[in-house]
Amino acid sequence: MDTVDKIIEKMIGSWPDIIWSVADISYSDFNADFTRAIIIALGYKDFITNKEYNEEKYHHVLLEAKKSIDERMNLLKKLLDHYGIKNFIPPTVQADEIELVAPFSFKYATVQAGIGWIGKNDTLITRKFGPRVRLGAILLDYPIKCGNPVSKSLCGSCHACVDACPWKVIKGVNWNISSNREDLLDYQLCNKKRSEYIECSGRKHNCGYCILACPWGLKMNI
Ligand code: SF4
Ligand code: SF4
Repeated sequence: MDTVDKIIEKMIGSWPDIIWSVADISYSDFNADFTRAIIIALGYKDFITNKEYNEEKYHHVLLEAKKSIDERMNLLKKLLDHYGIKNFIPPTVQADEIELVAPFSFKYATVQAGIGWIGKNDTLITRKFGPRVRLGAILLDYPIKCGNPVSKSLCGSCHACVDACPWKVIKGVNWNISSNREDLLDYQLCNKKRSEYIECSGRKHNCGYCILACPWGLKMNI
């Protein structure tokens, strides 16, 4: 009979549009109740470039990805509940507009799980989908095997996102495991620009230019 690990692996392995791994979250504020986080990075379904960019199109891509990742996380939750494994889907929203920090950092956990690195634009970059991913996380109290944390950037001398940002908020510095987001970009200004989308699309989100410029994401279409 399959172990719970195998059953989880089989379920997630049947989803071809994702990459996934597990992070040891002993570093997090949730460590009294949970030891691991299963992290899923779902690749965007539709491919758009900066040449054909428009807000409506990009918003649609993001909404599709959100819907899809929510469905997968709920399936995973049901599976964990079925086996009596304590679990929790952490909120993605930032606790306030001053610190701009979410209670559980999906991005940091994704790096800890070994799924990708942080690009010069302070976004998670994966080898398979570049930054064109929606992240999902579920915390659990179960000793499932973890991935190997990533500690360095593969951006190299690329400057595409720096050049693509219309507001020049990206500083052009390579991330490493000790970097703060302020080392990489003017986060407050980036947040201000992203917040302008609340008016037209009802929610704050990445404005897309720096994401769509990344060559790791452009490879998806080759
Ligand atoms: S999200 Fe927008 S403002 Fe922020 S770095 Fe990317 S392009 Fe610039
Ligand atoms: S566009 Fe280039 S510098 Fe920016 S995140 Fe992608 S690889 Fe890194």
